[in-house]
Amino acid sequence: MMTYLWNPPAPPSLPVRGKAERLPINRIFCVGRNYHAHAVEMGRPVDKSAERAFYFTKSPQALVESGATVAYPPETKNYHYEMELVLVIGKAGFRIPAEQAHEHVYGYACGLDMTRRDLQLVARDKGRPWDTGKDVEQSAVCSEVVPMEGVVIERGAIELAVNGETRQSSNVDKLIWNIREIVADLSLYYHLQPGDLIYTGTPEGVGAVVAGDRITGRVEGVGEIALTVGPAE
Ligand code: MN
Repeated sequence: MMTYLWNPPAPPSLPVRGKAERLPINRIFCVGRNYHAHAVEMGRPVDKSAERAFYFTKSPQALVESGATVAYPPETKNYHYEMELVLVIGKAGFRIPAEQAHEHVYGYACGLDMTRRDLQLVARDKGRPWDTGKDVEQSAVCSEVVPMEGVVIERGAIELAVNGETRQSSNVDKLIWNIREIVADLSLYYHLQPGDLIYTGTPEGVGAVVAGDRITGRVEGVGEIALTVGPAE
């Protein structure tokens, strides 16, 4: 039996709708600039004919469940919400053809890719890594996982409100790179594994929150998510 110097933490995990067992999380991948209107609002329009999708990651330890209250994070004055459809991988795969992508889908969830926008933009403009902007503690917010094995979601309203006021309202059919294309492309770089989460990108309307704000969001056909921003530590 393996012994450790101290007790390792339990693996990050999420509840699964209709199941007693929790889904253990492996990695957290995020797609950058995957809705045209959001790419434009960030000042970086996308030409799909000339560009590939790009990705960044968050530590699995950044995962936080929907319904939580999180502290306003340190070292930012511009903490942003990004409402996203999250794909949950259920079967390992490498160099997956787009037409077989559905075989690797376990299900979906609603996600918030919380971002220190000020730090991300400085990093972007200086050609530095995005880690301190994106891999923020408690920044990978996720709802329960909805089992939908073999299903490729192609459309559905995606919306976010702050304190009940709508800030993002779009449709998953506006993804630049769709679910099949993301699975195929990401699996060229990585051996995808069960429990990998893929945050598929956010539509336009991103913005800042302050302590006391209540974020709510939904993806039609998947579910809902909520997060309360508490005071800074
Ligand atoms: Mn995002």
